[in-house]
Amino acid sequence: MDYVISAPAVVAVPVAGGGAFPVRRVFCVGRNYAEHVREMGGDPDRGDPPFFFTKPADALVTGGADMPYPSQTNDLHHEMELVVAIGTGGSDIAAADALRHVWGYAAGLDMTRRDLQAAAKKAGKPWDMAKGFDHSAPIGSLVPASALPDPTHGRIELRVNGDQRQASDLGNMIWSVAETIASLSGLVRLAPGDLIFTGTPEGVAACRRGDLLEGSITGVGSVTARIT
Ligand code: MN
Repeated sequence: MDYVISAPAVVAVPVAGGGAFPVRRVFCVGRNYAEHVREMGGDPDRGDPPFFFTKPADALVTGGADMPYPSQTNDLHHEMELVVAIGTGGSDIAAADALRHVWGYAAGLDMTRRDLQAAAKKAGKPWDMAKGFDHSAPIGSLVPASALPDPTHGRIELRVNGDQRQASDLGNMIWSVAETIASLSGLVRLAPGDLIFTGTPEGVAACRRGDLLEGSITGVGSVTARIT
């Protein structure tokens, strides 16, 4: 095929120990920890099914690179999350089979223009520009799924300039990793290279230029980003 412009580079996430994981799509789960649902003014006991939004693959920031403070917001929030990397695709995956589709895990940040998101919610408009902007998804190195054989447990935390901002346990997810894969695969056919950001615990807050964000998840590793 003679492309009429240069083909874009493949976005890839480094793997701890060597190699890289080529990324196809980036899915994100909304409102997946009860305390975060409450801090956002929602009711986690309504029994709502999971919902999803997306970011472009090239919104990922890898290798601990700086994250430029985005345009058109005065309320950039951090959301510390476990990221699932899909190695084997499929649709209508059963929760009991779901973890076999996971290649590995990483620590990631679902950075959010909270003011634009609030305005979009109020107006019934899409979240895309609140969530899927350039550099909106810093991510640490991937580790193979064997590093986290049971993703229903493990401490997840975020420090900003050394102070703890978010701290919880993966066990506090409303929809487990397996249930999330099952649900999402009923909406789209998952494919190798897809990433799923699995939602953030409570403690989301605003960042400023110069802030150093350091997130970690037991067994998975860390993500680091300096806001510039
Ligand atoms: Mn999120």
